[in-house]
Amino acid sequence: MASLGALHVMAIYKRHIYMSELKERRRVVIPVRAGNVMAEFISFSGDNTEKEHIAIHFTGKQKTNEIPLVRIHSECLTGDVFGSGRCDCGEQLDEAIDKIDIEAGYILYLRQEGRGIGLYAKLDAYDLQDQGYDTYQANEMLHLPEDDRDFAIAAEMLKAVGVTQVRLLTNNPDKALQLTQNDIDVVEIVPTGVHVNDHNRQYLETKALRKNHTLDTEKLKKQS
Ligand SMILES: [Zn+2]
Repeated sequence: MASLGALHVMAIYKRHIYMSELKERRRVVIPVRAGNVMAEFISFSGDNTEKEHIAIHFTGKQKTNEIPLVRIHSECLTGDVFGSGRCDCGEQLDEAIDKIDIEAGYILYLRQEGRGIGLYAKLDAYDLQDQGYDTYQANEMLHLPEDDRDFAIAAEMLKAVGVTQVRLLTNNPDKALQLTQNDIDVVEIVPTGVHVNDHNRQYLETKALRKNHTLDTEKLKKQS
């Protein structure tokens, strides 16, 4: 089958890109959440994209499982830093910190803003959304890929810190698939909550419908 063949070639290509051997560069403890959470920030050397991705390690206040809980989070300046109501990134990140601080594991913070299109292009897309187009239509109109995120680097970051088995905190089946394709054993998928408000409802519904995210669409309708 041609498409499977192409997928296989892509997987090999991606693997080849990161053959550059990602290695830990430094570990630094940063107290976050007003000092209530000790987070160990890990930098890497050997990433030829030079995007400065970061792994954040939590030792776990009530660790019961030897297999770390892992969240792959793509940078969202507006959501993560300013609590934007146009998406749920800030809430997703907070939820990940809460859960992983208890259970032990890693947040892989990938510097691929706006699904990989960058901050300025994301703002251009928001402007189109204000004119009535959805996230994916807006990206199409800007001639940008609807999702340019690459999760293969996350697998290399995990290997660099010595992790080959994970419990993955996600509603996005593509993340689990890409980790698996890059030799990480996803032993369990732990779903994240739904963080809906009046501004991001359409964004979340679009994500569920168009990208097979395992969001509870009934819950989206009920919460207001
Ligand atoms: Zn966001």
